[in-house]
Amino acid sequence: MIGSGAFGASAAYHLARRGVRVAVLERAALAAQTSPRAAGLSSQVRATPALTRLAQRAVAKLAAFTDETGQPLRFTQSGALKIARTERDAEQLAREVARGTAAGVPIDFVSVEEARRRLPILGERGIVALTWSPTDCNVEPSELPLGYCRAAEKLGAVLLPQTPATGFDLDARGVEGVRTPRGTIRTRAVLDAAGAWARLVAGRLGAALPVVPTRHQLLITEPIAGVGPEFPIARVIDANVYVRHERGGLMLGGYEADPLQLEAATLPPSFDMADLPLDIEVLWRLARSVREQFPIFQDPTIRVAEHRGGLPTLTTDDRYLVGPLPGVAGAWVMSGCCVGGLSVSPALGEAIAEWILDGRPSLDLAEISPARFAGLLPDEIELRERCRRAYATHYRAGAGDSATP
Ligand SMILES: Cc1cc2nc3c(=O)[nH]c(=O)nc-3n(C[C@H](O)[C@H](O)[C@H](O)COP(=O)(O)OP(=O)(O)OC[C@H]3O[C@@H](n4cnc5c(N)ncnc54)[C@H](O)[C@@H]3O)c2cc1C
Repeated sequence: MIGSGAFGASAAYHLARRGVRVAVLERAALAAQTSPRAAGLSSQVRATPALTRLAQRAVAKLAAFTDETGQPLRFTQSGALKIARTERDAEQLAREVARGTAAGVPIDFVSVEEARRRLPILGERGIVALTWSPTDCNVEPSELPLGYCRAAEKLGAVLLPQTPATGFDLDARGVEGVRTPRGTIRTRAVLDAAGAWARLVAGRLGAALPVVPTRHQLLITEPIAGVGPEFPIARVIDANVYVRHERGGLMLGGYEADPLQLEAATLPPSFDMADLPLDIEVLWRLARSVREQFPIFQDPTIRVAEHRGGLPTLTTDDRYLVGPLPGVAGAWVMSGCCVGGLSVSPALGEAIAEWILDGRPSLDLAEISPARFAGLLPDEIELRERCRRAYATHYRAGAGDSATP
């Protein structure tokens, strides 16, 4: 396993649970890069029935996380409101209600008055339609990958922080070993779950990975009177903004039109996500774009308690990239998190373990397999532009249907 973030840690746990001997290589401290900086939101109604089933499975596993792993996880089933400010987005909501209902995810339209009863800070103006999905949830992001690491260790996995994978031994049958500064680990299977570095790791395996590390940020305010954990998550589709309760204050994050894209190969080996340059003006611009729905962020007395960001990886179609790495027998990848990997990692880790051990996962992952890009790899400029567009229209991906958290 290369990487101890949400993807790598979940896969390590699910493999160890099946009796596999697993070593988790981590170039830095355990689970300390993008995963602990996430917002921790989940949403279950996704762009397709298969992705919706994956997200449903993930939420069921998040709810049962402590029972299953014995590790702590702050889990809040706050429910979620989704706000359309245009007729086009109201039509998207209608499709989401139909898809959710067909899949058994509770979701329906509610009035602005009903929404304001659940979320009293919501402004009335500019809302065309909104939905309420009571079973959506949020978790404390730092606890999830660490919990999976610790649970995997209890099942016999070896955790190796401060130990980068620096290269691979390949023979005619495929992967044969993983090189580290502490020696080579002999193995016939390697899983690239290296987050912002996944493309670099895949390149060392001889495979091209069409993902672009893209900065994503959020802020958390100091506590605000009247704001509590019973507040639901709220998302504004066209503005690509989310708001939720955190520590007595409000969390705000979102997807700007021109995000910072980075290439891991240009980062120094010692780079830590804490060194990532942040820009809070991006968040204030997003807050201004929803001032009619969230006037509270225009209050000059509001204080920021925390501003954080990380480097999720984007794909051109805003979908995960999970499965066998084409052309390298024994090499697997979990990447392309598209800013929604943390919440789905329980189901994806379980599914990739089945895929590796049983030859196929019990959930249908064809839509997110690397095979979908076979022969279709764009050049670097086009890749960046298409990933930028996927990020900038995140809540309206594809045919107008929301992709991820
Ligand atoms: C501000 C923000 C908000 C977000 N909100 C949400 C949300 O609400 N819901 C949601 O589901 N997701 C959210 N995300 C996305 C989520 O954080 C990611 O999808 C998830 O963390 C991806 O996990 P990962 O394991 O791929 O990456 P990481 O956590 O970065 O883990 C990858 C690990 O691989 C290690 N590594 C790299 N190269 C090597 C090597 N050569 N050898 C050994 N180890 C290596 C790295 O050091 C790192 O620890 C958010 C992200 C951000 C930044």
